[in-house]
Amino acid sequence: MNYVLLGPPGSGKGTQAKKIVEKFDLVYLSTGDMLREAKKSNEYINKLVSTGQLIPDEAVVGLVKKHLKKNDIKKGFVFDGFPRTIWQAENLDLLLEFENIKIDSVFFIDLCFEKAVKRMIGRRICVMCGTNYHTVELPSKKSGKCDLCYNELIQRSDDKEDIARNRLVVYESQTKPLIEYYKKSNLLTYIDGSRSEEEVFELIDIWIKNKKS
Ligand SMILES: [Zn+2]
Repeated sequence: MNYVLLGPPGSGKGTQAKKIVEKFDLVYLSTGDMLREAKKSNEYINKLVSTGQLIPDEAVVGLVKKHLKKNDIKKGFVFDGFPRTIWQAENLDLLLEFENIKIDSVFFIDLCFEKAVKRMIGRRICVMCGTNYHTVELPSKKSGKCDLCYNELIQRSDDKEDIARNRLVVYESQTKPLIEYYKKSNLLTYIDGSRSEEEVFELIDIWIKNKKS
């Protein structure tokens, strides 16, 4: 079982990817995590990530290659945040072809521009335990404080409104063409991202179970 999750920032695809990984015991491959790790030691990547700009294709594919080697991808995997451009998708196809691996589905979690902005700018994370909140959809009991450990909740710098909008503009121009790309190869599964987290996962879960049986 190999899956790709596609959708705008704010669509919740990261959360869904982790749920799929957990339920079906797959390898989680997040280019966001890879980049956050890489930016600690790479000033160039650090600057691009913290201003919400797109990372050059070659750098992203390089990171992915490195992680594919490190992990047992024969077990099955879920890509979160990759591919982001046609070039990346073509290179992923080549990589997988070489390994004789196929993608089973590309789940496209769709969400309109303004809803995605609202999702992003409301996100908060606990500085200590990393629990996620949302000012509207999932508020903490006491404003600005974590329910679990009472530490401060912060907004990630790339969730600030101007950067969030910039990320979405980049998504629309660079990533949206991928929808056509995967439609042509008959891999695209459309999911309505305005539904709740549980409902979205249920749709994905049903799809995977139907495919397996
Ligand atoms: Zn906490």
